[in-house]
Amino acid sequence: HTKTKYSCWKNGELVSADQAVVSIYDHGLLYGDGCFEGLRFYHRHPFRLDRHLARLRRSLSALAITVPYTDDTLAQAVMACIASSGMGDGYLRILVTRGEGDMGLNPRNCTAPNVFIIPASLSLVSDETRRQGVSLITSSIKRAVGTGLDARVKSLNYLHSVLARAEANAAGVDEAILLNQFGQVAECSAENIFVVKAGSLLTPPVQDGALEGITRETLLELAPQQGLEAREQSLTSYDLYTAEECFICGSGARLIPVKTIDGRQIAQCPGPVYQRLSLAYKALIDDECGEKRQ
Ligand code: PMP
Repeated sequence: HTKTKYSCWKNGELVSADQAVVSIYDHGLLYGDGCFEGLRFYHRHPFRLDRHLARLRRSLSALAITVPYTDDTLAQAVMACIASSGMGDGYLRILVTRGEGDMGLNPRNCTAPNVFIIPASLSLVSDETRRQGVSLITSSIKRAVGTGLDARVKSLNYLHSVLARAEANAAGVDEAILLNQFGQVAECSAENIFVVKAGSLLTPPVQDGALEGITRETLLELAPQQGLEAREQSLTSYDLYTAEECFICGSGARLIPVKTIDGRQIAQCPGPVYQRLSLAYKALIDDECGEKRQ
């Protein structure tokens, strides 16, 4: 990620990055009261924007925030940001805060939500990392289910993820896995997780504390087309340690193979299922966002 130098969209207008600011009384800043989306674009075409907008709507519904823009307006705003950035390939954040209120947390006192679209350059993980794989630890931070905010809401409260990633940093590894309070695997700090067991592709159900990742969903659709059995299944640390393959995935990361988890070597890294799905995912991006489409 780099700090953006590109024009941003704020509440209906393209403005310079310096003007894309909020009041100190914005409840996104004061209370993490808001939600967001992160997506990539390729050849100036956003990948699966409709699904990202649908997930944004679900987050907004869960938080009872009403934005005065239709999906069409937001999609046009996304296209305007991409065009103005001059980038062919890049990353976009769509962010909604509850808006400006007073110092108290009561959402009733917020007048109108603030909606931002922020383009950024975001490089892909190096070929070397994709060849070698990444190392993970299991975080002590739990992704609690059924006790508070549903993990399916992509809210501005990312402190669980931030603290988990800090633990990964302290341990000298690349990323951290969050379990739920029952010891079931949820996801990583900013990616969903898959394993291959007895030749089948498995990922935790979202009810175990995972975000409804668009990359995750895309891979579950691609797998059967590749002749692979894929299903949602609750997983424990034991299932990860004994997997034939493991990889993590997200819009930013795409697919990254996992080499070690808590010091255990994963049998195959990168494994054949990862390689097949990686190619299929790349082909899908070319198909949906490739130069031929322009
Ligand atoms: N889990 C979390 C906590 C995330 O922040 C992300 C990134 N948005 C993902 C999973 C992956 O989701 P997606 O494939 O939609 O980017």
